[in-house]
Amino acid sequence: MPWDRKLSCPVWSPSKPGMPQKMRFHRLAVFICLSLLVAPACRLADPPAPPAPGEERNGKDRGGPKDSSIDALGPVGSAARQLLRPQPFTEIVIEVAFVNGREPKSATLDHLTDEIGRAAQKTVTIDTHEIPGGRGSYSSQDIRNLSGSRRNKTSAPKASVFLAFLDGRFAEDDQALGVAVAATVAAVFPDRIGSLSNLLQPGGVEQAVATHELGHILALVNIGYESASDREDPEHPNHSSNKSSVMYWAVETLSVADVFSGGPPDRFDEADIADLRMLAGTS
Ligand SMILES: [Zn+2]
Repeated sequence: MPWDRKLSCPVWSPSKPGMPQKMRFHRLAVFICLSLLVAPACRLADPPAPPAPGEERNGKDRGGPKDSSIDALGPVGSAARQLLRPQPFTEIVIEVAFVNGREPKSATLDHLTDEIGRAAQKTVTIDTHEIPGGRGSYSSQDIRNLSGSRRNKTSAPKASVFLAFLDGRFAEDDQALGVAVAATVAAVFPDRIGSLSNLLQPGGVEQAVATHELGHILALVNIGYESASDREDPEHPNHSSNKSSVMYWAVETLSVADVFSGGPPDRFDEADIADLRMLAGTS
């Protein structure tokens, strides 16, 4: 399951109570028409154009907000520049919310601190707290709602990213071990990871999945920009074709145990890091 592309879709505001029926119908009709117009763009935040034969890829930041405001519930990847640029956010706080019994391993948190810190070239701190669970499955909207009620507000110099460790599964993809559902919101499903009986290193999968989802939040791969290297997996958009990168597609799916019998990669590769430096404006 790649990051949730539905996020780039507009969200419809329901009609206000008391609004005349005719007006409600009119608003609904306008919404449906707009949705049909916008829907194709929702499949990919900003699909990169393939280079012409012989054309060299130089890497291209296709834009996106660069100011100090972060729309926490904006499309996946849309906060990457603010998270990566040296200013005004000099620290990233990963707000880890976990359901009872699904608390991430300390090795996972240590790994996120190191690897996201290396990726963003910033201090990364972890703030953990428990949240209620018991749902069995969570939709993208459920996860976004959780983040909205359970997190601190981002304010410089600290930027906040919400990472939930939930019970049950992702309602929209039974294969998913994790998912990124908004600009600064992602989730991991430890129960699904635990269901992989043929795993050699379940702990290694947890830290790989968590790193992978935060990689999507940092816009990897080609989410709203064009990588200098021609490495996006054509079969799995927004993922690396390098099996040694944590951004390889199978890392976040039940296929992980079959594809990586010795455990999945849990680090960004050189091309991932180069893209992040470009988005940070430091390359
Ligand atoms: Zn992915």
